[in-house]
Formats: sequence, structure tokens, C-alpha cells
Amino acid sequence: MSSPARSSSRPRWLERYATTGPVLSSDSLVLWACLWFVATANTSLWRALLEGRDAGDAATWGWVLAVGATLVALHFVVVAPLANRWTVRPLLAVLVVVAAISSYYIDRFGVFLDPTMLRNVLRTDVKEARELFAWAMLPHLLLHALLPLVVLGWLRPARRRWPSTLPRRVASWLVVAAVGVGALLSVFQDAAATMRNRRELRYLITPGNAVWSLASVLGQDTRSAGRPREAIGLDASRGKWAQTPHRRPLLVVLVVGETARAANWGLNGYRRATTPQLAAMPELISFAQVTSCGTNTEVSLPCMFSPWGRRQYDEARVRRSESLLHVVQRAGVNVFWRDNQSGCKGVCDGIPHEVVDPRQSPALCEEGRCLDEALLVGLERRLQRPDGGDQFLVLHQLGNHGPAYDKRYPDAFRRFTPVCATADLRRCSREQIVNAYDNALLYTDHVLARTIAWLREHGAGRDTALIYVSDHGESLGENGLYLHGLPYAIAPDVQTQVPMLLWLSPGIAETQGIDTACVRQRAAQPAAHDHLFHSLLGLLDVSTSLYDPAMDLLQPCRRPPAARP
Ligand SMILES: [Zn+2]
Repeated sequence: MSSPARSSSRPRWLERYATTGPVLSSDSLVLWACLWFVATANTSLWRALLEGRDAGDAATWGWVLAVGATLVALHFVVVAPLANRWTVRPLLAVLVVVAAISSYYIDRFGVFLDPTMLRNVLRTDVKEARELFAWAMLPHLLLHALLPLVVLGWLRPARRRWPSTLPRRVASWLVVAAVGVGALLSVFQDAAATMRNRRELRYLITPGNAVWSLASVLGQDTRSAGRPREAIGLDASRGKWAQTPHRRPLLVVLVVGETARAANWGLNGYRRATTPQLAAMPELISFAQVTSCGTNTEVSLPCMFSPWGRRQYDEARVRRSESLLHVVQRAGVNVFWRDNQSGCKGVCDGIPHEVVDPRQSPALCEEGRCLDEALLVGLERRLQRPDGGDQFLVLHQLGNHGPAYDKRYPDAFRRFTPVCATADLRRCSREQIVNAYDNALLYTDHVLARTIAWLREHGAGRDTALIYVSDHGESLGENGLYLHGLPYAIAPDVQTQVPMLLWLSPGIAETQGIDTACVRQRAAQPAAHDHLFHSLLGLLDVSTSLYDPAMDLLQPCRRPPAARP
């Protein structure tokens, strides 16, 4: 009785849509879906694989067929065992949506969907996601997601009991696997050479890249889940200088920048004056050739606070270990982290920290996002009393976070025009993109100048210093690349060369015996995120066996204590 009643309540077109489609076995559905993915979601991969090949050449078509068959088989052998008449449609629906979104970003921005990129995606908050969504995505999603979903809803999975279909399913799995292996063998030398030369291409295989990266991230996270961070620097204590009686307390501020690249940094010789306020401070020392540890926040941030850096990089070890902040705190320095971005990526776990609160500075915040000057609002309340000991403050900027560069600064800083005012960078000219990006740097220049002014104002009776360094660079359309996050080995310099600054109060230079002229010379030489851990230990005078004086940028410029006034 209930069945006819329900069917009459559904509109007739919907009833016909749901009941008149052809019946297909779940294996056939999976196979069609894999063909669809390989044909429509892998434009960037095909472009790379066909580079330098002649469309009129028969060998090119053999290459396309063989690689295509291999990719279809690869996806099929993974997906088919998970599909049955109940799971096949939801499973394929998820893959269709994942493939559609992935291919949009891969083709538009030249990104590679590797595990670090996926980790970035998973840690993206709603505010970031809203900025990344562009209306230009809609036609792509209609064609690549909605259309196949409509077809998928129309097709009907065959209702057969699994014991009767099992032998045939196993046989078809074996046939597809064999065809895939055969196809791969037929072009093996060619394929092996391509993959050896451009290993990163495997992260263009969509949606396999997303599935593989997700599994890899989940694997890493379950291995480290619930385990406390491994303590490092257990021997940390204060050095000789810190134990000098009657000295002034230290106040060191580290500003962690976002997506600022050295190529557009005025102090590094960029054709435009993007750092006018900082350029007017002759005491400031700018490091001219600084290399980042990673090409995205997820890698760079934990790495720059680790003792190992890029030169001994081991992602798993960096992730499971404590950071510079824990070592410094253990030695007795007060540490505080203030964040205007998507968090400290584990660096400040268990350390006092706070996220900038939009309610505290409504004039600087919109839709939950704040301009970086909000980092300074009420910051003096976080200061210890002068007799409260030494203090290390970290300010994590939103900086030049893209693609909505035009939202990163107030109107007064829209000095280079016209600007790109959309997140869909391909709809803007190079000039508009660079203008918006440069305006955002201009604002960072202002924020840093204000932070130094804040230190001058609140640093009375203290020895103060400021370090600024960006986490990674950015591509602004060079060679068709946008944003950042390219695998490190193939990343262009614009993604790995970052600005870095040091400002020392006259007091700290004097009491720590730092020869600033010598530091200025050192600043012209190459440096890296790797130096940060050891240079900060030196500046905060924390003594530990982790400290490597050769990696401390200031160490060669310290006068021996006996020679100090
Ligand atoms: Zn970043």
C-alpha cells in the first residue's frame, strides 16, 4: 500500500528519471566513471604528457591510448572492489565532486595535489574557503560535477546477489588489471623516463591524487594521534649573559609573514618602493638572499621553528617534535603567540596563544577576517611587568595571503592601480594582480613599521629586538603559475625566496655586544629559515645542546664578553 502512495507524491518527471535509466552492473558503472575521469579531469596531466609530441604522429596516438588505458585500469582496480549495488553510486558521486574541484584548481593555478597540498586543503577554514571560491568555478562545476551526477542518478545499479556475481567480478577485475599492465608495458621505457624526469606529474593524476594524498595524510595522523610531542632541548637553560645581575629584561618580537616574496620587496631592490617606511629606518638590517624551508605554510611554519630546517628535513620528525617555543619556554622565557591566520600548525601546542578577536577591533575586521594591524591591538596587555623576566612574542600575519590580495589592506594602501579585485586571478591582467599584491606588501611595510614603533614605545627599560621573515613566496602568473605550494624540488625562486629583517634596539646591541656593521655584511650573504632556530636561541641567550653556533647569524658578530663595556 505504501509504495504507490509514495510514488504518487513524487512529481512524474522525477519518478521517470529515477526508474527509467538503463541497468548497469556496478563494475560497468565504475569503468565508465574511470573513463570519464581520465578524459575530463586530467587536462594538465595530458598537456604535460603530450608536450613536444606531434599530433600527426601515429606514435603519439599509441602513447595516448596506452597511458589512458593504464590510468583507467589504475583507478578501476582501486575503486571496483569497494563498489556494490548499494555503495557504487554514493562512492562515484564523491569521486566525481572531488575530481571536479581538484581539476579546477590544478588547471587554473598549476597546483599539484600532493599530501602537503591536501593537508593545506583540510586545514583551510571557512574564511579561506570563501575567498578561494570564485564564481568562475560555477560553469566548470556544472559541466564536471552536476552533469555526471545527473547521469549517475539516472543509471540504475543491477540488483544481483553477490555470491552469484563474485566469479565474474573477480574475472573482470583481473582482465582490467591485465589490460592496464599490458598497456603500461607497451610504453614502459617512455613512461618510466617521463616519470623519472618529472616525478611530480603523478600528483596530477585526478582523482587518484586526492585519494592517495588523503590516505597518506590520514596514515601520518593516526600514527602520531594521541601521542604527546616529543620533547626536545631538555637541557635548555639560560646562558651566562642572561644571568648578569641588574640587566634589562629582553623583549623579542618575531613577526611571521605570509606569502611575501623577496622579488617584490622594496628593500631587496624591487623596482617599486613597496617598503617606504622600513627604508626610512637606517638601523634596520635586511637579509638579501633568504631561502624558505617550504613552499607553503603547512611545511614552512613547523620547519622554521625546528632545529633541523630544510638541510635535515624530515617531515614526520618535525611534526611529532616540540618547537623552538617549547625550548625557549623551558629555559624560563615567557612565550606568547598571537595569530591572525589559520593557526600555528602545532608550533604553539601547549604554549600561551590567542587568535586575533574581530570584536576587539571592529574597524579592522570584516566577515571574520582582520587586517594585520589588529595584531597590535591591546598587545601591551600581554606584556609582562618589567620585573617579570624576558619575553618572546610571535605575531603570525595574514600578510599577502592570496588569491584575494586586494582584501589584505585598507583603501589608503591602494596605491598601485588598477588592482585585481577578484579571487579568480585568470580574469585579471598580470599588471592588476601584481598591483594588488604590491599594495598588500605596502601594508605589511606599514604594519612592521608600527610594530617597531610599538616596541620603541613599550620597550622603555627593556632590551628589544624584532625579526620579520615570510613563510614562503608566491607565483604571480610567471610561466602560467599562480599562488604557491609547488613541490620544493621544482618550485621557482619566487616561491622560495623571502624577505627577512632584523631590527635591534641600541640597548640590546650594546649589552649583547653585537657589531651591527658586521651583521649588515652577513645579511648580504645567503641565509635561510634554517638559521632562525639558532639565531633566536642566541638572541634570547638560551643554552642547549641543540644550539649550533654555525647556524646563528649573529654569532660571528658578537664581541667576546671580556671586550664588552
Ligand atoms: Zn603561508
